[in-house]
Amino acid sequence: MFIESVVGLAGLVAAALFIYGLKAMSSPVTAVKGIVTAGYGMVLVIAVSFLNIFRTTPEAHPHLLVNLGLAVIAMVLGCVWAGHKGRTVQMTEMPEMVALYNGMGGGSAAALAAVALMSSHHDVNLLHLAITFLGALIGCISLTGSFIAWAKLNGTIRKPTRFSGQRVFNCLVFVVTLVLGLFTIFSYGSPVALLPGILFFIAALFFGVCMTLPIGGADMPVVISLYNAFTGLAVGLEGYVTDNPALMIAGMVVGSAGTLLTVLMAKAMNRSLTNVLFSNFGDSSGEGSGPEGEMKSVDASDAATSMNYASSVIIVPGYGLAVAQAQQKLYEFVKLIQADGVDVKFAIHPVAGRMPGHMNVLLAEAGVPYDMIYDMDDINESFATTDVVLVIGANDVVNPAALTDKSSPIYGMPILNAYKARQVFVIKRGQGTGYSGVQNSLFFQENCTMVYGDAQKVMAEMVEAVKALGHS
Ligand code: NDP
Repeated sequence: MFIESVVGLAGLVAAALFIYGLKAMSSPVTAVKGIVTAGYGMVLVIAVSFLNIFRTTPEAHPHLLVNLGLAVIAMVLGCVWAGHKGRTVQMTEMPEMVALYNGMGGGSAAALAAVALMSSHHDVNLLHLAITFLGALIGCISLTGSFIAWAKLNGTIRKPTRFSGQRVFNCLVFVVTLVLGLFTIFSYGSPVALLPGILFFIAALFFGVCMTLPIGGADMPVVISLYNAFTGLAVGLEGYVTDNPALMIAGMVVGSAGTLLTVLMAKAMNRSLTNVLFSNFGDSSGEGSGPEGEMKSVDASDAATSMNYASSVIIVPGYGLAVAQAQQKLYEFVKLIQADGVDVKFAIHPVAGRMPGHMNVLLAEAGVPYDMIYDMDDINESFATTDVVLVIGANDVVNPAALTDKSSPIYGMPILNAYKARQVFVIKRGQGTGYSGVQNSLFFQENCTMVYGDAQKVMAEMVEAVKALGHS
């Protein structure tokens, strides 16, 4: 009774820590505190899970010492590996790391279900069994789906695998998985349930692969967020099955946060989830359609001089800034022109980069004060009255085709109105398209000039050019 109260109370405290942590993560000022707070919640949940052992009789745990030893070894290995990875991972590799961790969460939920099924007594009720299987199904899909997403993001799998009749095939795999699950549930307890039970797990894992293979690599960040929601749901269901309220609450928080994030990402791109899962977005080469004309270019020092003599500059960072790791040089340049009286602001699109908050993190890393950073809705009106916009490694998020070209795959996505400024400079390496694979009509506009080169190299040249004007 005492242990049950402690477990229940710990679940509530953990939930409060998670919710407070999530709230704090919504602002860059308090984000680190939020992550640490949620981490304490997770430590509490893990600690309490061990207490659960004392809620049952010793006969229920015939191999207690061996199991405890294995759990501790797994935890030590996981902590050492994750601690090392967390410190060394590059910002641009974050989505793949999230995919990997997320997959493991789904796999853990599926493993919990397998253990619960093997150790359950024959008097277990139908609802309990159905929930165990549902958690196992979702966990398995999340495990293999996330691994495929990871392989696509790091380039191990380069092309989406598609064949005719694929959707029908995937539906068949799903139906077979369900049938195997139902058969196992209704024959549970008899020896004939073992084989379909094992086949159910294999089919569910296979379905995760089938579901993810045809989706283009470009859509993986949204897919990972979706699998994150799946993992949370699976963990929550298994928390119910194993009678662990802390796990249930942790799963529900992850599940709802993942669902919200998926919806927000899809909304910020003006796309539905079905469009993400089935549209082959980002596969077009960008050739054959799009704006016509020529892109003008200028060298870095001329663009820098022009910005130094402007009265207002808005900087639009994008994925290329993260690739080039040019944030420190960019801020060095900003401080130089600010010292010459230029009013500088940063404009952040909600889906700039490859994960939510990607640009905020980069700018925070370089020490850019938060009051210089504006969200899209707060700054979009200001572009029309701004002298110069510097687009650095961004593409889709400033593409006016999203507003005007109904045939464009990004039509309807809100953009930063950089095209309205008096002068726009765009730093990018060449004429490559952005994430969506479509050409950017802004680059062909009269008021737009390209500054070709790797963003870090260009920014270093700009810094030198402004220094040569009189700064030291
Ligand atoms: P994009 O991916 O549209 O464009 C990035 C540009 O950066 C490219 O055109 C590339 O051009 C340039 N670039 C790449 N490397 C460098 C470099 N080293 N130096 C200079 N330039 C470089 O980025 P945006 O940030 O504009 O848009 C993000 C896209 O990602 C949107 O379409 C969004 O929907 C999508 N997305 C975002 C998610 C999020 O949560 N943030 C999640 C999922 C998708 P070039 O090759 O010529 O250099």
